[in-house]
Amino acid sequence: MRAAMLDADVGDDVYGEDPTTNRLEKICAERMGFEAGLFVASGTQSNLAALLTHCERGDEYIAGQDAHTYRFEGGGGAAFGGIQPQPLPFQSDGTLDLEDVEAAIKPDDYHFARTRLLCLENTQGGRPIGPDYFARARALANRTGLRVHLDGARLFNAVVALGVDVDDITRHCDSVSVCLSKGLGAPVGSVLCGESDFIEAARRWRKVLGGGMRQCGILAAAGIYALEHSVDRLAEDHHRARELAAGLTAAGLVADQRTNMVYVTGVEPGRMRNHMATGGVRVSGPRWVVHLDIDDEDIRHVVATAGGLAADRTSPRPKP
Ligand SMILES: *Cc1c(COP(=O)(O)O)cnc(C)c1O
Repeated sequence: MRAAMLDADVGDDVYGEDPTTNRLEKICAERMGFEAGLFVASGTQSNLAALLTHCERGDEYIAGQDAHTYRFEGGGGAAFGGIQPQPLPFQSDGTLDLEDVEAAIKPDDYHFARTRLLCLENTQGGRPIGPDYFARARALANRTGLRVHLDGARLFNAVVALGVDVDDITRHCDSVSVCLSKGLGAPVGSVLCGESDFIEAARRWRKVLGGGMRQCGILAAAGIYALEHSVDRLAEDHHRARELAAGLTAAGLVADQRTNMVYVTGVEPGRMRNHMATGGVRVSGPRWVVHLDIDDEDIRHVVATAGGLAADRTSPRPKP
């Protein structure tokens, strides 16, 4: 990846003249079945540019209560766009109940915000969501005049886990954001994809958000390398996460594996942090994420370090 970055052809992307960035956008769009792509600095910038492009002031988007687009992006849609979120609880499989979604759509009446957009997430908390759900969401959106944005920060984890083609899912969406910098291992960046006029409008918002970059082909080259070399290998991360969950369960902990993540519950986070630090393992909370820099030896070390943690358990096991 570093070698690809070093060798990248560059130009000024603010003028659309960076050949490597153009190539990354094209590769991503084609792979996901869209006309165009837009390289952005982060997943947050990507989702925000999508919100600003789909919605106007006084519009509303429906998202999960724990969705990144609602909970973890600083209220950007409200701060910059005057766009109101309508959060709904996620179901246990990471989907939004489509009856809940339909019931949340506001009537066309000037007392209400205009419900414009449904934001979905895949994987959601590590849970992969298959094409059938997206087909049903699309049907609802068509019937009710909503547009559909997918926060696919970890979409390729879902695709690899489910054994489907990425466009089996993306074809049901109006726009899709994927992160190059999560499991795919690029240092920076996300790509937002959609139809050409949507991406042209999003390009304007990206500039407004301070996201117009210049010789960013150096970064785009890392993204191209990641798409070419790091998608299929996500299966290894999922396998290691399974091994990790099995090892932790054998050590007496409650560990739930979802794609590349393991949720370790029933241990007070402070204790978890302190105990794991004794083995040089830094954890921030219950979600432990496996990625391309973690090998089998690391998994064994983490399991061995977690050995004493079950005895430290202070809070009761969660109900199944
Ligand atoms: C990480 C993440 C994002 C945002 O990505 P950043 O590059 O950190 O801004 C968006 N959505 C989901 C689901 C994520 O996991």
